Amino acid sequence: MTDYLSTGTLPEDYRDLALTVRDFAQSVVAPVAAEHDANHTFPYKVVAGMAEMGLFGLPFPEEFGGMGGDYFALCLALEELGKVDQSVAITLEAGVSLGAMPIYRFGNRKQQEEWLPQLTSGRSLAAFGLTEPDAGSDAGGTRTTATVDSGEWVVNGRKQFITNSGTDITTLVTVTAVTGQTGAKKEISTILVPTDTPGFVAEPAYNKVGWNASDTHPLTFTDVRVPEENLLGERGRGYANFLRILDEGRIAIAALSVGAAQGCVDESVRYAKERLAFGQPIGRNQAIAFKIARMEARAHAARTAYYDAAALMLSGKPFKKEASIAKLVASEAAMDNSRDATQIFGGNGFMNEYAVARHYRDSKILEIGEGTTEVQLMLIGRELGL
Ligand SMILES: Cc1cc2nc3c(=O)[nH]c(=O)nc-3n(C[C@H](O)[C@H](O)[C@H](O)COP(=O)(O)OP(=O)(O)OC[C@H]3O[C@@H](n4cnc5c(N)ncnc54)[C@H](O)[C@@H]3O)c2cc1C
Repeated sequence: MTDYLSTGTLPEDYRDLALTVRDFAQSVVAPVAAEHDANHTFPYKVVAGMAEMGLFGLPFPEEFGGMGGDYFALCLALEELGKVDQSVAITLEAGVSLGAMPIYRFGNRKQQEEWLPQLTSGRSLAAFGLTEPDAGSDAGGTRTTATVDSGEWVVNGRKQFITNSGTDITTLVTVTAVTGQTGAKKEISTILVPTDTPGFVAEPAYNKVGWNASDTHPLTFTDVRVPEENLLGERGRGYANFLRILDEGRIAIAALSVGAAQGCVDESVRYAKERLAFGQPIGRNQAIAFKIARMEARAHAARTAYYDAAALMLSGKPFKKEASIAKLVASEAAMDNSRDATQIFGGNGFMNEYAVARHYRDSKILEIGEGTTEVQLMLIGRELGL
């Protein structure tokens, strides 16, 4: 079914899901988005609503409490949420694609049974701790260490910019850590750290430019001791496994970005029809109509890019290049559209209560998180043999 996904002819079950999430986004998320943004508060009630709808379990099998859907279904939900509130969309994206997915992909049966039901139900959140003060784009530069002592891993180090890591419902952080060294080559593994483990601290939240209702913290690990069986996946495969998670995650971020880009189009069309200047709606001016037409073209092209990457991934074909292309063009579409939408809204576009103003502040991080624009270009170039 996913061999060929067209933006115009979605199979019925996908279309129904998108419409259900669209309705939730309009009726539950949109009314409180500006307030959470202004107060920098995590939207617990909205998250509980998404949990009730099963969104945190979308791409997981029913045996782990999931909805039995697939990654493309998650992307459709992210697109709809991204139209109205990027903070809510990234909370879901990080919870599923970065939080639960590593355990589903690389965990053993015991780890899956322990963690997945609570994560897929949305009762709790897991975070993905890769980035460090000295290891961002160059994530292999990890300095956090984990050493074995009396049957336990002892984790020491720092992570930064970690999404969903300090909410009241966060129960787990999956961290990359150096577990050995062969010559100059670091052995990097992944360790599961429950957030109630002594020595683990989620430091105060960042004061961000955007995504204000999304939860982001620096983390410190001081002699954090967890059982040796908290190793996730094979020892020494931690970095490679996280890179696979990021390849998939780029399709999800692209979907969220398309939502943002489309949200800006929808808001602009409405405003351009209503706002009068010089005795007529501003949309009658070709300069405005062309701007909005170009915005629509960007959103549409970016959507086809993420549909294509998702279709390749789901059919088991290589999708690395297409995922990077989708992330690149979709994040740029979101940034460009949010800038144009703000211009179309004039002074109102600079007022935080307007959705386009939020998109303007929120969209910048789309070109940075889960691999910057430059990293996507490096990856695409590498896939081309350059
Ligand atoms: C709100 C937010 C949420 C986040 N959530 C998470 C999370 O949940 N988990 C997590 O692990 N991380 C998370 N991150 C971290 C994010 O993925 C990193 O910020 C990102 O990968 C960039 O790393 P950096 O900030 O260290 O920038 P740097 O790597 O220092 O890059 C700085 C600049 O140099 C450029 N650059 C670097 N190397 C090259 C090169 N070789 N060629 C050309 N240009 C280059 C980059 O593109 C960038 O423009 C989050 C970040 C933010 C802001």
